[in-house]
Formats: sequence, C-alpha cells, structure tokens
Amino acid sequence: MPLPTENVGSLPRPAKLQAALADYDAGKITHEQLKREQDAACRDSIERMEASGSPIVSDGEQRASSFATYPLTDTLAGTGLAPNLAADGQYFAIFTDGHHRQLPRLTGGPFRYKTYAAEYLKEAIKMASKPVKQAVIAPSMLFLLYPLDGEVKGYTREQFLEDLCNECEKDIRQCFAAGAARVSIDFTEGRLALKNDPKNPWTGRGMLGQFIELNNRVINRFSPEERKNIGIHTCPGGDCDSTHSAEVDYAGLLPSMFGMNAGYFLMQLASEKDKERVYKLIGEHSREDANGVPQVCFIGVINPQNPRVETPEEVRDDLLLASKYIPKERLGSTDDCGFSPFSIDDKPKHGSPNRARDIAFEKITNRVKGTQMASEKLGVS
Ligand SMILES: [Zn+2]
Repeated sequence: MPLPTENVGSLPRPAKLQAALADYDAGKITHEQLKREQDAACRDSIERMEASGSPIVSDGEQRASSFATYPLTDTLAGTGLAPNLAADGQYFAIFTDGHHRQLPRLTGGPFRYKTYAAEYLKEAIKMASKPVKQAVIAPSMLFLLYPLDGEVKGYTREQFLEDLCNECEKDIRQCFAAGAARVSIDFTEGRLALKNDPKNPWTGRGMLGQFIELNNRVINRFSPEERKNIGIHTCPGGDCDSTHSAEVDYAGLLPSMFGMNAGYFLMQLASEKDKERVYKLIGEHSREDANGVPQVCFIGVINPQNPRVETPEEVRDDLLLASKYIPKERLGSTDDCGFSPFSIDDKPKHGSPNRARDIAFEKITNRVKGTQMASEKLGVS
C-alpha cells in the first residue's frame, strides 16, 4: 500500500460564489439561486480534485459558511442562524494580520445542529467517482458557544455538553452512513488554546486538557474499526492567508493531542520552521495502539497560505525525512490546512480566490506525485 494522502477539507470559494453569498445576505437572490452557484462550485472542486490524481476527494466545503459554523448558520453574515443562538459570541481567533473571526453565543437550550455535514456529503458523493471524505467540527470548538463564566439561564453547562456530544456523534455517524470513506475532525482550537493571548480571553484559560477530554468523550463512542477512519486535524489556523497560533510550540500540544483515540492525524508541518524537530516529536508521542487503533500521522507538505507551489521532489523529501522518525506504516501526507476554511476569503497573497483555486489544484497534484515518489523510495508503492 502506498503512503496515504488526503486533503484537509476546504478550497477557496470562486469569486462568483462569494458574490452570490453577498447577494443572498442582501436579499437580492433566492436560496435556490445560491444553491445553483454552490452546486457548480462543488462539481468543479470534485472534478479538479479527481483530475489531480488524489485517491480521496471532497467538495471543498463550497456549501459551508465555514469549517466551524456550518452546523449553525447558512452564511458567515448570520443569515439562517440556528435557534438559541445570538450573533455576538466570543472571538474564536484573532489572526496575525489583525483580523478576527467571531462565534455565535448560546442564549438557551437545547443545543441542536441546524445542518449536519452529511447533507453536503450526500450531494458530493453523487458528483464523485472516487472515495469522498468529509470534515466535521470538533466538540471543543463548539464548546466556546457557551459563555466562559456563569451559566445560560435554564440550561446548565453539563446539559449543554451532553447535547453537544450527541450532536457531534450524530454528525460523524451520518457521514459514514451516507458513504464517507473517512471523516476528519477540525481541531484548530487545540494549538490556539496554548496561545495565552490577552486580547482573546479564552486562550489564556488553560483549556487544552478540557478540549481533549471532551473530544474523547465523542471519539470513544466509536469502535476501533470506525476510529481507523476518524481523523483529527491540527493547524495554526488559516484565513485570508494568515495564521492565529503559529508561534505556539508543538511540543506543548502533541503529547495531549495524541491522547485522543483517533486513527489518524492531519498535521500542519510544511510551514513549520524546524520540521525535523516536530517529526521527532510525532514519532515519540503518536501511539501504535490508541485503544485498539494505530495512529497514522499525515504530515503537512503543502502550505495553503503561500502561493508558491511546492515541487513533488520537496514533498518526497519531507516524507523521507519524516520516515526517519515515524514508522512508514503510520506515515501519510496532507496539506497544512484547508485552503479557505471560511467561505468569504479574498486570498490576498494569491491575488484572487479564483487564482488561489488554480494554485490549490497545482499544489494538490504535486502532493499526490511527491507522495507516490516517496512511497517508491520507501518500498511501499
Ligand atoms: Zn486548519
């Protein structure tokens, strides 16, 4: 078996789709008209990802408001916000270029998803001829919907956590039932939890341990056979070609992160300053047996924030270096992050979202080629 390779999830939305989202928010077009643009963008994403040679594809999250808010709202501007939520929640992240992204705020119970990821997946599978993956959001991210201090009237934190875990479990199970080959859980808040940013209070509350425990509360509801195909994605964020926690040392995150009983991990590494040090940490902390399942480590070999296209040789060399520390049976490749986790994203360093899409597919093509080259070198092709 060659080394596995898999994208994280998102692709930049075409300029036309982003314009349609603005028109929908302004009441100028109907939901049906918006859906037509989403359908076209999903079809284009799947066709081009299949053409890249990728063994597994996704719809590039073209229907999602963002990787984190898809269950809660139809658009980032808040059109179609789910019941029991208000728009003025806490900042999820403040990025290094100064912009921020905000979460909704829970105003009462019960907490329920409005949209499950399987609804997108069912549409995507109809358009694909290869296995399809689906990304979902982690319970630890949606934990931040509940106020940091105090209680929501009539809805205790523990009642919320039970509802939250049930909804996340349902989100994952529905994906597998709809035919997902793999489901990866976005966990960008893991690294951010160690940032201690005085401008963003939750990042100074030492919440990483709580996050891991909460995510395991959901992951442990799945059998080892199911968990083989349940992944975790970690990154320092990626939005408008900017990150939120790249300065946080992986050494603080990885020992806890591998405590989650997931079967695979999609990890940002291409943009890391000292990759070899992190490969070594992964080798030390990833587990051969995570409650019945080996942890396969997909290392990031593509930086979606940088328009320069990595060569297949660079991808190959990263994997060969990583294989010195991570057993080849548990090694794979990925992109550092989704290419546009939020639906509205100008991709400023790329010139335009459309140009960024073209570059993304060139990058994915080279990831696939370089991974094949590394597989041959390692004798696993
Ligand atoms: Zn990411």
